[in-house]
Amino acid sequence: MLRLPLLESRSAVYEQWPVRPDDFNEIPLLRDARGRRYTYLRLSVTDRCDLACVYCMPPSGEDEHAVRRDLLTFEEASRLVSVFALAGIRRVRFTGGEPLARKDIVRLVELVHRRTEVEQLVMTTNATRLPELARPLRNAGLFGVNVSIDTLDEDRFRELTRGGDLRRVLAGIHAALDVGLEVKLNTVPLRGSNDAELRKIVDWAWSLGATPRFIELMPLGEGAKLPAEMRMTADDVVDALGAQVCREAPTGVEGHGPARYLAAGDGSGRRVGFITPISNEFCDTCNRVRVTARGDVRACLASRRAISLRDIMRAGGSDLDLAWAMVWSLSGKDR
Ligand code: SAM
Ligand code: SF4
Repeated sequence: MLRLPLLESRSAVYEQWPVRPDDFNEIPLLRDARGRRYTYLRLSVTDRCDLACVYCMPPSGEDEHAVRRDLLTFEEASRLVSVFALAGIRRVRFTGGEPLARKDIVRLVELVHRRTEVEQLVMTTNATRLPELARPLRNAGLFGVNVSIDTLDEDRFRELTRGGDLRRVLAGIHAALDVGLEVKLNTVPLRGSNDAELRKIVDWAWSLGATPRFIELMPLGEGAKLPAEMRMTADDVVDALGAQVCREAPTGVEGHGPARYLAAGDGSGRRVGFITPISNEFCDTCNRVRVTARGDVRACLASRRAISLRDIMRAGGSDLDLAWAMVWSLSGKDR
């Protein structure tokens, strides 16, 4: 990772950024060199997970970097979010690893909710701890959860997650719905594994009043180790769903992206979402920035430029220094 002393990073921003130094006397709005505005932050709070999905975690489920002092403290994380909010971020997604595996996560959500001007706090989770945490999270200010669930078959779930208990996840989803959290359901379609279940998953999600979404398998990390034949594109999924969705009724990009939606074939107004990092890159409309659990800001997964916001804070950097670093990381975005 590229680490720059603060002064050097400031001049690097000036060189690469079409703004005058005077503009940096106050927190700048996050924009990149293509003029895209950034309104959405994905904040990872841990790299660890209690499951080890075959396309995501190695069998041990261990994270070699998970040294506690490396992680952003809650104080640091909430400070960062407040600076991001001043720089135009409106929505924050807590993610991981498994965000509910971070000790006292409810306290972090509450702190961010209380301290910052962010409009909406949401989380992506495997839901195994939602049975206990849904209500405290809702009370702490969380608006909604995206729950990852790839199968409704207990044995297949155990296989795909290397030991997970589907019943916990289902109980977590019901707990979230019961306390009024918005629920979206994410499924990675895998040929030869859950592909025969996709229609059932859609019907089940709709029966709960939730929106099902399918994410194309990305051949990254553990995902790259799976046979290429397992990958399914959004078109493959639409074919598998048949009359359940209406191909002629794309509802377009809605809400906060990057999912695109098709309407139900029965005209009921229900929807199915597709997240297509492989078949249909969504870089052009990108509005999101990422911060890792150790506080590195990164414009996107493909971006080579990362800078440690944690190190800036621990070196006594100001909020303005943090904002410069955020802008600088976006200025290196090459997509
Ligand atoms: N643990 C949480 C969960 O599973 O929802 C949050 C983190 S997880 C990395 C976020 C999302 O990334 C999940 O929906 C998961 O299915 C998806 N994901 C992980 N590895 C992937 C891969 N190789 N290809 C596509 N999606 C992947
Ligand atoms: Fe854990 Fe989520 Fe990765 Fe599955 S996808 S191993 S639940 S972090």
